[in-house]
Amino acid sequence: MKIPFVDLKSQYNSIKKEIDSAIQSVIERTAFIKGEEIEQFEKAYAEKYGVKNCIAVANGTDAIYIALKMLGIKEGDEVITVANSWISTAETISQTGATPVFIDIDKYSTIDISKIEEKITKNTKAIIPVHIYGQSADIKAIKKISDKHNLFLIEDCAQSHFAEFEGQRVGTFGDLATFSFYPGKNLGAYGDAGAIVTNNDELANKMRMYANHGALKKHQHKIVGINSRMDTLQAAILKVKLPHIDSWNAKRAGNAEYYDKILANIGDIIVPPKRENAKHVYHVYSIRTKFRDELMNYLENNNIGVAIHYPVALPLMEAYSHLNYKNSDIPIASEYQDQILSLPMYPELTKEMMDYVAETIKQFFNTK
Ligand SMILES: *Cc1c(COP(=O)(O)O)cnc(C)c1O
Repeated sequence: MKIPFVDLKSQYNSIKKEIDSAIQSVIERTAFIKGEEIEQFEKAYAEKYGVKNCIAVANGTDAIYIALKMLGIKEGDEVITVANSWISTAETISQTGATPVFIDIDKYSTIDISKIEEKITKNTKAIIPVHIYGQSADIKAIKKISDKHNLFLIEDCAQSHFAEFEGQRVGTFGDLATFSFYPGKNLGAYGDAGAIVTNNDELANKMRMYANHGALKKHQHKIVGINSRMDTLQAAILKVKLPHIDSWNAKRAGNAEYYDKILANIGDIIVPPKRENAKHVYHVYSIRTKFRDELMNYLENNNIGVAIHYPVALPLMEAYSHLNYKNSDIPIASEYQDQILSLPMYPELTKEMMDYVAETIKQFFNTK
């Protein structure tokens, strides 16, 4: 059996007719930029997410950058974020000229709330927690801290579309939230795409303007902006896919539950811990083992796709060597980066496939 790490093809096949006609329609109208699907998707996403504004942008990285810029983050500022994330979360802070301040992770691989306040200085302007792997950070506690210190709160929801914390959607706690629709994300386009959501109308307008060359109306450039529009083909595709997201997320959660059961008590495997009061949407199913590299090889040799999210914590990346972080500054993230292993996780995964993954892992530990 061959089990890819992600399988975008079988999802496409399940909605092929609708997708093909949505794409065809954009091409027939040559509505490549600013076609009506953009606004339709923005409205649909905002409505389904339960927020007032959604701004479609070119990708999830730009979404964070645009947010930081329009919140006024600039050189000399500090922005607190988490040690374990995709590079976008940190690089966008750097792009504004500000300095990322990295906090270690808790056992859920999200920002450790007990270590945030000691890093707040007079230069700190914002906090960007990441709801990593599809699971909420301890967002209410983070919100308390950001309120107390008068900091902006930006939720990086690139991996957590429609996840919840105590019955409330992630991304609705802070000033705004950013999403990625990178093809492999829980809601994925067929290329790059992203969005920002916020209940703050004034901020929404500014961000919309900035992402569109600083103009809301043609040739009326009120600020110096950038070009970060979502293209119409992506909006058309996302519009078709959006109504399926709840069912896809539910399938992911069901698969995770099954993995939890069949992986329990194999070798030293630790299945991903789940917050009691949160709804996890399992963008990634990340186990831990002390034999990570060997197991990774073994699974790959048995045609099982695996990945690591992420092999090097952000502050330990070469790009951030100038900030001089040491492993001991982020002990948990340093420990986890050598132990985590992401198994195949998508709605279309079958029990048979997961059984094969578990059997292969069992075989690996039998050889030890
Ligand atoms: C995917 C991702 C992003 C960036 O999204 P792109 O659309 O690839 O630019 C940002 N943050 C996190 C946590 C991500 O996983």
